[in-house]
Parts: sequence; structure tokens; C-alpha cells
Amino acid sequence: NLSDKLDKALHILKGHGKITEVNVADTLKEVRRALLDADVNFKIAKDFTTTVKEKAMGQNVLTSLQPGQLMVKLVKDELTELMGGEEVGINLSGTPTVILMSGLQGSGKTTFSGKLANFLKTKKGKKPLLVACDIYRPAAINQLHVVGDQIGVEVYSEPENKDAVAIAQNAIKHAKANGFNVVIVDTAGRLAIDEQMMNEIANVHKAITPHETLFVVDSMTGQDAVNTAKAFNDRLNFDGVILTKLDGDTRGGAALTIKSVVNKPIKFIGTGEKMEAIDIFYPSRMADRILGMGDVVSLVERAQEQYDEEEARKLQKKIAKNEFGFDDFLSQIQQIKKMGNMKDLVGMIPGAGKALKDVEIEDDAFKHIEAIIHSMTPLERTKPTVIDGKRKIRIAKGSGTKVEQVNQLMKQFDQMSKMMKMMQGGGGKNLARMMGG
Ligand code: GDP
Ligand code: MG
Repeated sequence: NLSDKLDKALHILKGHGKITEVNVADTLKEVRRALLDADVNFKIAKDFTTTVKEKAMGQNVLTSLQPGQLMVKLVKDELTELMGGEEVGINLSGTPTVILMSGLQGSGKTTFSGKLANFLKTKKGKKPLLVACDIYRPAAINQLHVVGDQIGVEVYSEPENKDAVAIAQNAIKHAKANGFNVVIVDTAGRLAIDEQMMNEIANVHKAITPHETLFVVDSMTGQDAVNTAKAFNDRLNFDGVILTKLDGDTRGGAALTIKSVVNKPIKFIGTGEKMEAIDIFYPSRMADRILGMGDVVSLVERAQEQYDEEEARKLQKKIAKNEFGFDDFLSQIQQIKKMGNMKDLVGMIPGAGKALKDVEIEDDAFKHIEAIIHSMTPLERTKPTVIDGKRKIRIAKGSGTKVEQVNQLMKQFDQMSKMMKMMQGGGGKNLARMMGG
């Protein structure tokens, strides 16, 4: 996958005290190949490496103190730029705000309509109305009703009406009369672009003049996603892109190319089938993720949503004072377990996506880790530096694990503490520095 390959390409530079022009050129060639393999359009991949090379030369990478790190930073920044730079929110003006979903069948429109309604309801205090304009399959209307029930949002439908434009207009009237301040219109899709579908959604679009027209695309469809985006954009001139099915594993190709081809921002990503599996799209986090760092910031944010504030403050103090110990690690793990879907979460941990790709992740994935920590004395937990070879053997015996497993945990713990400390002291710069060494 792309992150593996980029990782490998950048590895050439990482750790090198000194790099040469040949080195840079080799690395960029690898980066370009990785991008092409990930379905990034040829011209974009070429422009990308040219820009990075120019910047590298301009910033005297070759004579800088830590050339490898500087290169990694340049690649990361350029990836971020390619995906739009800053995050872009959705336009919530209008009473009600009218949001129109577009995209092929199976791209995730209905699921995302539900996720967005839930997001706007719980995070923005809105009162959304979902509208079923997929009039061809009775099952589609039912599906939206199921979603609506799940999140406690009303669904407007007219099962007997075969006029999508009229349904959408009636729904907006209904919303105005009943105090709904957001109207999310779910539409029909086809398996491939066809004229009839395009005409229908274009008619709905013209009739209701949405404040936000969103194009939903399955990120697993690679280069096809880009062609579809182009076709929809030519017709609807949409406002933003939703990338769905970005669960766990990283597939960056579509994200990298779509923005450049249609010049519209990616606004949200879908990361699972559940209603909570929605995230705002942050280009720099996506770049981190593509570079194989894992989406640490999202992970921490999701974790924090589950914590009470007090807990988080205590933890921050400990990290700042270098007092983060295995007891804290253990309670972190317990928090993570509470958050549910292990696969989603593990994919966000740096390196873990790769390491655990082929491993079936069970809910007791942390069993060994917990056993090992439970076999430590209180002193060992608060002051891991006292754990020497002898103690490791004892801990392994006590927990029914191998010394290598204890070593591995100690290493993970060490990395995690370092990472937490860095994230505290000023975000992006530190993350970038971390990548270099
Ligand atoms: P629509 O035809 O565009 O309305 O697509 P649906 O919303 O019905 O979604 C098609 C399938 O994709 C369903 O099985 C969804 O559960 C699934 N799906 C949608 N979004 C995601 C996502 O972000 N991750 C995963 N894993 N599945 C998704
Ligand atoms: Mg649907």
C-alpha cells in the first residue's frame, strides 16, 4: 500500500546524517512510483515530485543539519497541500440549510446522510430532517428510515410519489413548517454514470438550490473515483467531496487526486459502517496517515471524547512531569477498549496498521499487555526504568508471556510516552520532527 511504499522511499533518507543529490533523486523516484501505484494520476505525481525537489534544492536540504528530516517534512507538507491544505467546513447558512447528496449507487450516500444528520444533531445542536429521494427501490426508502430511527432523526418520504423534484420541494416545505433547520436530501444513484440519473439529480439541484451539494465517493474505487467526480462536478458544480470507506487501512490515492482534478475540498471521511464513523477531513492528518504515522491526533481526540475532562487534565500533568507510567498505560488501554471497534482504532496507531494488517484483531487483543502490566510491582509500574533483565524474566513468568513480549511492550510504552510528550509541546512541528528520527 501507499504508506508502506512511501515509508520505504523515505527510509532511504531517514537516519542519514548526510545525503547527496543522487539520494534525493532516488528517493523522489520511489515516492513517485508509490504515488502512481496508489492510483494517483500520472501528471499529479510528476508535478508533486518536481515541486518537492525544487523546494528541497531551494532550502539547501543537502547542507542542512538534518537533511532526512527536512525532506520528510517537505514531502508531508506537499502532500497536505495536494489535499487542500486547510480543512473546509460545510456551509450551514440558510433556514433551513439544504444539503444535497450525490454519487454512484453503493458509494455510501444513505449511510453518510445518516452520519451527517447525527453529527449535526449531536455536535452542532441542529434539528435535521432526512429526505428519501431514492424513489426507484422501496428498500432504499426503508434503509433511510432504519438509519433515521437509529439516530433519532425524522425521515421525510412519499413512497407513492415518483417525482424526486416534488418530494424534495415538499420536504423543504415540511421542514420550514416544523422547525427543522437542516434538510439532508438523499438521492438515487446508478452503478455507473448515466444520462437519466444525471438529469434527475440536476433537476433536483436546480429546483431546490442547495446550500451544500456533496459528492460521495467510495475511496476504494481508485482512479474511477476521480472520473466519477469529474462527471458529477461538470454537471452539478458541487461544493465538497465525501470520501467513504477509509476504514483502518490507508488508501490515499483518491484523496490525493480528487482535490487536484475537480478543485473541490474533501470535507468529511467515512471510516466505518456505524453512525459514529465520520470524521472531518484534515489534509495534514491524512498526510501523516499516508506517510504511515497513523492518525495519532484523531486517535487522541476520539479517546478524549470518551474521557472525562478531569481524567484528561491529570494525564496531561503527568506527561508534562514525565510521570506517565504503566498504570496510566493500563487505564489508557481500558479506555481504548471502551471505545469499541478495535480494528478502526488500531489502524490509527502509528505503524500498527501495517504490523497488524494480517492479524485478526479480537477484542482481547490487549490481553497479553494487561497480563504483563499486572505482573509488575507498583514501583515497576511508576518507574519502568528499574526493570532490568532479571525483572523482565520474572514478569514474563508471572504473566505467562515471553521475555520478548515484555521487551516489546516496554518499547511500545517508551514510544508512546515520547509521542505523548511531543504532542503536548506544540503539535505539527514536533510530529514532523518525530518522523525524521
Ligand atoms: P448508497 O447506495 O450510496 O446510498 O450507499 P449506502 O449508504 O447504502 O452504502 C453502501 C454500503 O457501503 C453499505 O453496506 C454501507 O454499510 C457501506 N458503507 C457506507 N459507508 C461506509 C464506510 O465509511 N465504511 C464502510 N466499511 N462501509 C461503508
Ligand atoms: Mg442509498
